[in-house]
Amino acid sequence: MRPRIIIVGAGPAGSSLAYYLSRQGFEVEVYESHQKPGNRPCAWGVPKQIERFIDIPKELVLNYIDVIDLYLNKKLLYSAEFKGEWGYVIDKPNWLKYLLDNSKATVKFRHPYDTKKLYRQNEGEEHVLVLANGRTGANESSLKLNAIEYVLEVDSWPNNKIEFWFDSSFVGYTWVFPRGDKHVSVGVGAFKSFSFLNKYLDEFIKNHPKICSGRTITKKGDFLVISGLRIDKAIRAKNVFAVGEAIGAVFPITGEGIRPSVMTSFALSRALSHETSYINELRKTGLPFAMNIHKVVLWMAMSSTPEERAQLLSSVPLEKSVLLATGEFDIEELKNSYPFLAEIFDNLEKNDVILDEYVNQHKELAEM
Ligand SMILES: Cc1cc2nc3c(=O)[nH]c(=O)nc-3n(C[C@H](O)[C@H](O)[C@H](O)COP(=O)(O)OP(=O)(O)OC[C@H]3O[C@@H](n4cnc5c(N)ncnc54)[C@H](O)[C@@H]3O)c2cc1C
Repeated sequence: MRPRIIIVGAGPAGSSLAYYLSRQGFEVEVYESHQKPGNRPCAWGVPKQIERFIDIPKELVLNYIDVIDLYLNKKLLYSAEFKGEWGYVIDKPNWLKYLLDNSKATVKFRHPYDTKKLYRQNEGEEHVLVLANGRTGANESSLKLNAIEYVLEVDSWPNNKIEFWFDSSFVGYTWVFPRGDKHVSVGVGAFKSFSFLNKYLDEFIKNHPKICSGRTITKKGDFLVISGLRIDKAIRAKNVFAVGEAIGAVFPITGEGIRPSVMTSFALSRALSHETSYINELRKTGLPFAMNIHKVVLWMAMSSTPEERAQLLSSVPLEKSVLLATGEFDIEELKNSYPFLAEIFDNLEKNDVILDEYVNQHKELAEM
């Protein structure tokens, strides 16, 4: 008989897992502390490759993105138009609702779960427990990045364009993403304090000609686990698994976490339904390797001077950086783009990179 599945958390990882498993005949229960899904600040951007893993119904796509502008130290560095879209801005809360509604799972909102208690209860029991509790489920010592996001109502913004603004004095970036026709998500994520980011973002908005007169709808801060995938944290105990940001499924150099979270749930759903190894299924998605590449590039950015960081960003054309950012690269091509990293990339195929350990040894870099 198939085990009953208990999922803690209804973010992208938990909702997609519920969707996959209940369609495969598992009895699934989801517990979520908030009263509805998608409460967390997020720019709602996803590359179109997400559709290899899960449905994005057209009616939940708010924007089709095919132009990316990249700024370095306040100057436009690259502007690229992608044939076919690069990806979408989706209505994330309603997409999560769609996944839950289209699963046969029992979903209990406003139901925070004491995961420690659940662990204990789980010992010797037949059900499977899955931690999809996001950053709260991650390793205490994980590398974290602070972020602040405003949602602004604006007069106009091209509904197909996103902007990334890099400031080589720190590791991180500022973004402007459309959200439908009248709103934008504008935020900054960096290894800086919230008070620094607050001032930085207010100044950024004040100086941005297209959004400076925008009306604030929401302003929220949060942090992201940015140490990259920890497959050693994917199986916590017998019949206790973890997915999504709880195992660091966030691309370290971009902060993209929706698609990788879905990919970890896809892997776990295959492992549970085919009775195969979760770790092997994770590896088959290609995510661990792509994450390792990201970890190395992030680590390099963190240990570089501002001048070196500016050089790193401007030396590679945007189209190639986008392939790196989305994890869609051909490794040989990547080595050509970043020749100084070729040797490290070669060794990655053999070893997992555990960025947390590097960072613990060099804490001061993480706190720059
Ligand atoms: C400012 C900001 C902007 C971002 N923008 C993007 C973006 O544009 N694109 C992108 O791909 N990613 C983005 N991300 C990252 C992305 O939001 C996350 O990586 C992703 O949501 C992680 O999914 P998850 O399901 O693992 O965790 P979460 O989305 O954090 O979901 C975890 C859920 O578990 C619930 N929970 C936690 N503990 C318990 C408990 N004990 N009991 C019950 N429920 C519990 C929480 O309430 C939450 O709903 C952004 C993040 C931030 C902070």
